[in-house]
Amino acid sequence: MTQLSFDVQLSDHARTDAEREQVLSSPGFGQHFTDHMISIDYTEELGWHNARLMPYGPLTLDPATSVFHYGQELFEGLKAYRQVNGSIVTFRPYANAARFNLSCQRMAMPELPEETFVEALELLVQTDRDWVPTTEGHSLYLRPFIIATQVGLGVNYPSRSYKFMVIASPAASYFTGGLKPVSVWLSTEYTRAAPGGTGAAKCGGNYAGAFVATRQAVEQGCDQVVWLDSHEHRYVEEMGGMNLFFVYGDKLLTPALTGTLLPGITRDSILTLAAELGLEPVEGRLSIEEWQAGCESGELGEVFACGTAAVVTPVGFVKGADRAWTIGDGTPGPVTMRVREELVGIQYGGRPDHHGWIHKIG
Ligand SMILES: *Cc1c(COP(=O)(O)O)cnc(C)c1O
Repeated sequence: MTQLSFDVQLSDHARTDAEREQVLSSPGFGQHFTDHMISIDYTEELGWHNARLMPYGPLTLDPATSVFHYGQELFEGLKAYRQVNGSIVTFRPYANAARFNLSCQRMAMPELPEETFVEALELLVQTDRDWVPTTEGHSLYLRPFIIATQVGLGVNYPSRSYKFMVIASPAASYFTGGLKPVSVWLSTEYTRAAPGGTGAAKCGGNYAGAFVATRQAVEQGCDQVVWLDSHEHRYVEEMGGMNLFFVYGDKLLTPALTGTLLPGITRDSILTLAAELGLEPVEGRLSIEEWQAGCESGELGEVFACGTAAVVTPVGFVKGADRAWTIGDGTPGPVTMRVREELVGIQYGGRPDHHGWIHKIG
């Protein structure tokens, strides 16, 4: 395949320095977008083509475009960080590229060469580099995604054309209110994923199917939903859009990737870092009964969730239809804080990167 080259069309209505600074002073999460975006088209005849950087703006799509009807769509999420020495980096972008292609396989969509995926990120971040926040703990969230663009309502076959895009959004912390432990609701009524389904793919439909359970969690006074296995509603899988870790002394347990969990890059990074932190990583299985018993005996002292958006977030309180308990004393524990500091330290350049995870952009 010939290397794609990007056509660059710069915005003639980019925000002024003052307008950008205004946004960056309080970016929130996913509310504001930079001046440019990436777009690459795919057809069966031409393969990937028409790669361009262009001004950020709306799309015009026929109402019969297949993504609106059958949800053939998937996305990725990663961040660009401004490190302490001023350079701009991303964290493991090739891991996102590889996962994007695994999701594409599951959703019958064409894979994008990993080099093109990473080049698209680099071009957008370099062009909009002034949007990478300088405030500690802030970042530029990058959202690559792909949609089916064939026009027509034929339901029995995948689309024959697609559009890949990348947009970027300056981000403060994902959960407002700093490192306050979250409370979780054990969902026994709804499940996120079943064996053979799309749970391991980062497709929008997984989220669409999850909102009703999140709303139920909020009605129960909880912040987030914990997903259990679809068969027995007993074994812990994930929390909302994040993976979970359970701290048993110096053992760090996380649910194994059974095919119904999303393989988080943060999860994988923490498993890799565990040994360096004097912790023993274990991929296993945990029932809600074991979770409760462990907290009551004190054997299980800390639980945290992890993902790109919120990094590492302590879990403080668990509630289910017929049970409720507190984890430790309900405050962030020392292992949670150490794992978080190590990961954030690598991302922002305060700690050495022994694994080649940092990808310099500018
Ligand atoms: C994206 C995502 C995660 C976390 O993945 P990271 O690569 O660590 O950001 C976990 N669970 C679900 C359901 C997700 O969509």
